[in-house]
Amino acid sequence: MPLNHLLFRNIVKGHRTEPAPASDAHAAAELARGAPGAGLGRSLALRVVDCGSCNGCELELHAATGPAYDLDHLGLHVVASPRHADALVVTGPVSANMEPALRRTAQAVPRPNRVVALGDCAGDGGCFAGTYAVKGGVGQILPVDLHIPGCPPTPTRILAGLRALMDRER
Ligand code: SF4
Repeated sequence: MPLNHLLFRNIVKGHRTEPAPASDAHAAAELARGAPGAGLGRSLALRVVDCGSCNGCELELHAATGPAYDLDHLGLHVVASPRHADALVVTGPVSANMEPALRRTAQAVPRPNRVVALGDCAGDGGCFAGTYAVKGGVGQILPVDLHIPGCPPTPTRILAGLRALMDRER
């Protein structure tokens, strides 16, 4: 589509981004039981670690970073290095092969770090629990601040959970 048509369409039809979801009440209650906020301000840098997921959770997280949900406009952004991160977002059950990498990545995040378990598998191993290659949920390896449930969780649910985490950190 020519640029002038695209500009005209966007001016006429208005803003295309989904409205930001409200902070998730269940996530806020879960967070209230944990450590107090660390004054990390109004933005959080996220380092994502896939510990053995089917990639369903990554697809939804990727959708949350796209123009429709626009994770960045909430002050959230994904970073390439754990040394630049405030929080780890972990997907999938923790496979035996990924456990050492998860521990090393968590050690590389500056303190105070936060850990978000994203999806049912990250919660308790999900449909992979009990298999020989899986250690279990993220909570069996690291202290988890927030679990965002779902198989997979929708982008809106992911944003609502992360919003609750940001609210706690103010
Ligand atoms: S929670 Fe569901 S979508 Fe996410 S990694 Fe597990 S099986 Fe895949």
